[in-house]
Amino acid sequence: LRGKKSADYVNTGEWSKKAIKEAKRYCSVNVAASSEDRNFTYAPQQAAWKLDPDAAYVHVCTNETIGGVEFNWVPDTGSVPLVADMSSHILSRPVEVAKYALIYAGAQKNIGPAGLTIVIVREDLIGQTLPITPTVLDYKAQAEADSMLNTPATYGIYIAGLVFQWLKKIGGLKKIAEMNRAKAGLLYDFLDQTEFYYSPVDKADRSLMNVPFRLRNEQLNDDFLKQAKARGMVELKGHRAVGGMRASIYNAMPIEGVKALVEFMREFQAKHG
Ligand SMILES: *Cc1c(COP(=O)(O)O)cnc(C)c1O
Repeated sequence: LRGKKSADYVNTGEWSKKAIKEAKRYCSVNVAASSEDRNFTYAPQQAAWKLDPDAAYVHVCTNETIGGVEFNWVPDTGSVPLVADMSSHILSRPVEVAKYALIYAGAQKNIGPAGLTIVIVREDLIGQTLPITPTVLDYKAQAEADSMLNTPATYGIYIAGLVFQWLKKIGGLKKIAEMNRAKAGLLYDFLDQTEFYYSPVDKADRSLMNVPFRLRNEQLNDDFLKQAKARGMVELKGHRAVGGMRASIYNAMPIEGVKALVEFMREFQAKHG
């Protein structure tokens, strides 16, 4: 907070809401923009944001995992530091890291096992914590100890290292982005040409990693999930906050998995449509 009293938050869904709730323990929160009016199905245009020039920072969740809304552009917050939760799409495509003051991401989506968190923070911002901040959450203390202030999660770091090597070997973030666009494109193209299913998210803001979709006849939901499971396709039920279905197609999901899903959806539609 660097002595400032408030921070700006953009509310685009479940993870933004969690971040806002936690921030309120430490400062006053100004919700600078929100997509709640349309059930969090889009990313609010920058022109509509009510930013406070005195805010300590502006927080965004650049990929809302549950709603499937992704920022495909980098917000311009001027001299106010931009902070982003990239947990569910870090390493899915190249990112202009220098445009962010701080990026944080849990490892468990695209990096490796749960238990690690990556923080990329601009050096001029560290070391200005509130007096109540525990040392383990003080990035200056972490940086000075080479991120080994306490015993790090060594196994998780080792596995993350293997994932980084794999990513480099296949051609890095440019290549994985191509693969992810092909995967998501397959599913969205299918959703857009059928009346049986639909994607609730605005086209420009659709996530490459998390694809929520719905059946127009919601009464078929249970049947859909049951038959998908019989084909070995599990965890397709959407989060209870939004309902419907959600296919999470992180880096580790091969295109064959998406093809199998689309094939199944086509057959299900032919049977019930
Ligand atoms: C998964 C995720 C987190 C962290 O999730 P936990 O399961 O609580 O560790 C945070 N932000 C976003 C956007 C996520 O997708």
